[in-house]
Amino acid sequence: MELTKAKAALKKYFGYDSFRSMQEEIISTIYKGEDTLVLMPTGGGKSICFQIPAVTMEGVAVVVSPLISLMKDQVESLRVNGISASYLNSSLNTEEQRQVEDDLYNGHLNLIYVSPEKLVSQNFLSLLKSIKICLFAIDEAHCISAWGHDFRPEYTQMKFIKPQFPTIPIVALTATADRATRKDISLQLNQHNPKVFLDSFDRPNLSLTVKPGQKRFEQIVDFIAKHPNQSGIIYCLSRKSTENLAGKLEKKGITAGAYHAGLSSTERSSIQEDFINDTLPIVCATVAFGMGIDKSNVRWVIHYNMPKNIEGFYQEIGRAGRDGTSADTLLFYSYQDVMVLRDILTKNESDQNELKLAKLERMKQYAESLVCRRQLLLAYFSEQTTGQCGNCDVCKNPPEHFDGTLIAQKALSAIARLKQQVGSTMLIDVLRGSGRKEIMQRGYQNIKTYGAGRDLPIRDWQYYLMQLTNQGLIEVAYDENGALKLTTSSKAVLFDGNKIQLVKMQVADKRAEREKAKAKTKTKRERVRDDLFERLRQLRRELARKEGIPPYVVFSDKTLEEMAAKRPLLDADMMEVSGVGEKKLKRYGNLFMDQILQYIKEQQKVGVKIQGSTHIITYDLYKQGLSVDEISAERDLNPTTIYSHLAHLYTKGEPIDLFKFFTQEEYDRIEVAINAMTPPFANKDIYEYLKEEVPYYKIRLAWAHYEKKG
Ligand code: ADP
Ligand code: ZN
Repeated sequence: MELTKAKAALKKYFGYDSFRSMQEEIISTIYKGEDTLVLMPTGGGKSICFQIPAVTMEGVAVVVSPLISLMKDQVESLRVNGISASYLNSSLNTEEQRQVEDDLYNGHLNLIYVSPEKLVSQNFLSLLKSIKICLFAIDEAHCISAWGHDFRPEYTQMKFIKPQFPTIPIVALTATADRATRKDISLQLNQHNPKVFLDSFDRPNLSLTVKPGQKRFEQIVDFIAKHPNQSGIIYCLSRKSTENLAGKLEKKGITAGAYHAGLSSTERSSIQEDFINDTLPIVCATVAFGMGIDKSNVRWVIHYNMPKNIEGFYQEIGRAGRDGTSADTLLFYSYQDVMVLRDILTKNESDQNELKLAKLERMKQYAESLVCRRQLLLAYFSEQTTGQCGNCDVCKNPPEHFDGTLIAQKALSAIARLKQQVGSTMLIDVLRGSGRKEIMQRGYQNIKTYGAGRDLPIRDWQYYLMQLTNQGLIEVAYDENGALKLTTSSKAVLFDGNKIQLVKMQVADKRAEREKAKAKTKTKRERVRDDLFERLRQLRRELARKEGIPPYVVFSDKTLEEMAAKRPLLDADMMEVSGVGEKKLKRYGNLFMDQILQYIKEQQKVGVKIQGSTHIITYDLYKQGLSVDEISAERDLNPTTIYSHLAHLYTKGEPIDLFKFFTQEEYDRIEVAINAMTPPFANKDIYEYLKEEVPYYKIRLAWAHYEKKG
């Protein structure tokens, strides 16, 4: 099977012009009948890898998927793209199951999604034996490995696939990268010499930001105001805090739901449904939320508290921006959070505590990072990157260094004088000369450095202490309530005159200033998310509601953004938009183009000219039955211009009857003339060749017909 066929199917069914880096290779490997193991991040485009073979190869693709909700979602997405797919799992009644099995038996399906239990049931196996299968795809393949974080015993049954169907390729797909699991998957599946495809786990469309965990609520309200009409998730640590936060947001007039394991399953699924259908924009949730959903247009994720490890964090922010268009992530960080997590971890009796604490430490490093955060994340997943990502807060606001020796000396000397017995809060209070009772009682007002750091606000001190800790000048004794201790290098600063560099606290005002300046030169994305985008989004929601499917299944945000930017008004242009395949063009194309045209007309009325739309306005009048002269009068344009619009529309494939404007005889004359020309040539040359007997506009139109005819 050649790849040209695969490419044609990609355009026809999915509306995409090209494969992503690894998809092509994976598909060729499947065509060759070889087993593959595909490791790609969420949103990387794994599904296409087996869906394209499914529609181009003979026989049905059997896809094993662990989550019933995901099966439904995938099948719906395939169907609106004109691909015949169904699923079999316990959610169907007997009659429905029989219908699907009939379709399967009669070869009506390109893809069948099944639960692992269903796959290995005797009846189903014998059905499979009687039909033609092109491949087995095992989605979320890490579930087969006891090494993985999501082991499912029923997956182990899948080792029987290979012996039962030795010639049919098995594609295993997962977003779990870790080495041990990877190896185990192929082993468990009995894959035959599988080709392994390991894609980068980078998600460049996710912006990464960490902010100090003060005034979190105000910061969240501010953040939401900057992301109007967008879906987002706020992860909280406890059930109670999800409810508190959602309640506080509601009071501010921001619609938000709370989701946690304490809710009944009906409550939970209703929140999930509303979120999927864009009727509930924001969910405050514990980390369980988001697992069983494929919603591709989650535009932001906030972590109210720091997660326990980078794996969890990455998985949670990974739920944003699955459609590949930009999405924002924000983590609130405070030292207090680290202490709380340490407490929780150490209290739990477990032989893995060391490991867990080490993982927490890596998470803390991420939050405190003064170098590109993405670099740090990817390094954690053993991926080397070069340079700055440009899409994290550190890259956007590069740190400025200064000589911090004096600040360090003040802090270290205070630590020494406080006998290395106090934590950071007390240290800062002493440095700033706070008069609170505890300080007075302990007599700390008498030490030499009391009040020596009055000139700096608390936040700055916290930031500098964090840096001193990360530079190895301070050690935190977690087992002594976080008391700060000196180290050998801190002694070198105190007594040997060692100099040290610190990073300036990025003053909030300064940052705000920069943001303001940026707002003036709106980014491309912001411009795209304008009124038109909003209208298209409303239309999408309306259509989705009528059809009972999620809005992102109608079109992804990415597709809508492109539509709003390119404003296609003709079928041919609509097809150019990524994500618009043949079926969707037929089903939704006109509705979206009508909306775009209406928008353009309204803009025109208020004097805003929209580039590239003039021929469409002509076309609109033409379709209303106006003659060329009438259109030219109405639009105050030369008739020649109107004719040239019609010619252009005709070449774009619009059904315009050109023979209304010239006779067959005239056309034949013009064709002879064109054939007699040596390129390059212009209308004028034809005009002269025909002895100035045929008017220009007829030549223009006939030429269009000639070109189209090929
Ligand atoms: P995964 O299963 O790896 O999480 P998906 O298969 O759902 O990812 O793909 C993520 C998004 O990228 C989807 O919106 C999908 O349609 C889109 N996509 C996949 N392949 C391509 C491609 N070649 N060109 C453009 N978009 C693509
Ligand atoms: Zn960066």
